[in-house]
Amino acid sequence: MKDENCIFCRIADGDIPSTTVYEDDSFTVIMDLSPATRGHALIIPKDHMDDIFEMDEKTAGKLFKLAVRVAKAMKKALKCDGLNIVQNNGAIAGQTVRHFHLHLIPRYEGDGQSILWTPGEASDEERERAAQDIREAM
Ligand code: AMP
Ligand code: ZN
Repeated sequence: MKDENCIFCRIADGDIPSTTVYEDDSFTVIMDLSPATRGHALIIPKDHMDDIFEMDEKTAGKLFKLAVRVAKAMKKALKCDGLNIVQNNGAIAGQTVRHFHLHLIPRYEGDGQSILWTPGEASDEERERAAQDIREAM
């Protein structure tokens, strides 16, 4: 069900104009309005889902196949030196639009961008406990 108040639902429906790279039954790929670098694009599922926690694995499989295709096209067309895939879930993680989207950000030598975190520390026990908690939930 499309959400009239959701900007990416409206873009996927064609209600709001966007610069479209690609479209199929399940996804639309658009250029980010405020690109981090030349070619910064977003893969957006046409069905509304807030974030990764609402995505089913079949859709995720199709999504990543498309991401590989777009990434290879970017490398070929834009001659980028690298590429970041970023996907934010929740405000704490930097998500500003609550409709799932995958960022594909081509990277160029000297582009001045930085998509990094501060490395932390964990003991062997802490890492093992975290791994066990996740393992048990899978
Ligand atoms: P995030 O912070 O991961 O939720 O990213 C949201 C992204 O959507 C930002 O990079 C915005 O520049 C981008 N964005 C917001 N509105 C539009 C729009 N109408 N068309 C294209 N990109 C948009
Ligand atoms: Zn939506």
